[in-house]
Amino acid sequence: MEKNTENKSMSEALADRLFYRKKTAFEVMSDKELSAAMEYARGYAEYLFNSKTEREAVKTSVEMLKKQGFIQYRLGDSIERGGRYYLNNRDKSLFAFRIGTEDINNGMRICAAHIDSPRLDLKQNPLYEDSGFAYLKTHYYGGLRKYQWPTLPLALHGTVTLSGGKNVDVCIGEDIGDPVLMISDLLPHLSGEQGKKPLDHAYDGEALNAVACASPYRENGAAADTSDAVKLNLMKLLNEKYGIKEADFMTAELCLVPAGRPVDIGLDRWLMGGYGHDDKVCAYPALTALCDSTDSRHTVMCVLADKEETGSDGVTGMQCSLFSELIDEIAESLGGSGRVCRSRSSCLSTDVSAAYDPGFSDCFEKRNTAFAGSGVVINKYNGARGKSSTSDASSEYLGKLRDIFDADGVLWQTAEPGKVDCGGSGTVARFIANHNIDTVDIGVPVISMHAPFEAISKVDLYFAYRAFLAFYR
Ligand code: MN
Ligand code: MN
Repeated sequence: MEKNTENKSMSEALADRLFYRKKTAFEVMSDKELSAAMEYARGYAEYLFNSKTEREAVKTSVEMLKKQGFIQYRLGDSIERGGRYYLNNRDKSLFAFRIGTEDINNGMRICAAHIDSPRLDLKQNPLYEDSGFAYLKTHYYGGLRKYQWPTLPLALHGTVTLSGGKNVDVCIGEDIGDPVLMISDLLPHLSGEQGKKPLDHAYDGEALNAVACASPYRENGAAADTSDAVKLNLMKLLNEKYGIKEADFMTAELCLVPAGRPVDIGLDRWLMGGYGHDDKVCAYPALTALCDSTDSRHTVMCVLADKEETGSDGVTGMQCSLFSELIDEIAESLGGSGRVCRSRSSCLSTDVSAAYDPGFSDCFEKRNTAFAGSGVVINKYNGARGKSSTSDASSEYLGKLRDIFDADGVLWQTAEPGKVDCGGSGTVARFIANHNIDTVDIGVPVISMHAPFEAISKVDLYFAYRAFLAFYR
């Protein structure tokens, strides 16, 4: 039978014109863009390594901002047009903003990321000795899969406020030659019973105790003949290094995080593995895009929030009134109205999305899932069970963003967290939208999200930066 090649090419042309086909970054990026993306990821890897906790992220980010001429702002300070400011909220969340030339009542452009990541916090009374070991007890922070944390090199990070108010920063396990801590696991030879338990129950929260010392305090050339000599030895070492006593744990914020630097994954080096991509992989582009969008006439803000992983509550979480109060202050000191400014502001809630994982295809709906390597991902809504607890961005707002991104050659895709009723997730988006600010979730797809070692594609990181930059402009 003769083939109607004419018709076929017409239908192909029509399909090209009418169908949506998801592209990968490697199909659309030039060699020049690819090297720019690889270079950009190097800066991010440094940021990620130096920002494992929210406090460290604030410190690292303030250093970056200062280099770009941003100065510290406190509520009540005066604000000038063209000025660059940052508000450091209790060393745990950060608001960086640059005042634009246009009327503040036209609104602000805001990117909001979070800088806390799932981890193991130390309890307030963490230290005990058992069978020749000194242990630190933990209470996990955020949603994590407990079985993933034993038998990993863990670093101790945090801050201890001594009596009298002096703060001591602790970091053990990150420098070359540093010791690390470890939570043990059962050997396979004895794990018959444990192995029969469902995964979520096989590891008890109260069993996530980390070994921190394995030898007793010594005096007169011998092990001290006292109870808790191993615990004493650990306290002596901590006291020598940081000047802390056991009672100081009660006023401390210490946590265990995976030790070590981010690394490239795959021989082509396009994936990056590391701890805390969620959500530093959006915080870094949100911050660098703010610094690089100096040609914008808008007033722009980058929010780096704490406590997202535990529900955004508290004075450093996104639900704190400080966010809207700050916008009101800025607007009013420029002669505008906070209420009007907020109503005309728009926000990108820059947070990560679950990347499709062929190893777990059952949990994803392929047509509506983010693919690592296919660009920055927009989640119109999050939530769970019939979209509950989501702000659900409007068609008009998405349309506006689509035009901004397309005009700048940003590769973007859309997704939802996973299959309907398979689970769900939330971000800071709804807390911002509740202030009458158009908000949508957008960010980088992450493989093995919330694991001690997560992976992202560097091309998606790069398009996140490009998207946020276009948005600020
Ligand atoms: Mn997140
Ligand atoms: Mn998260």
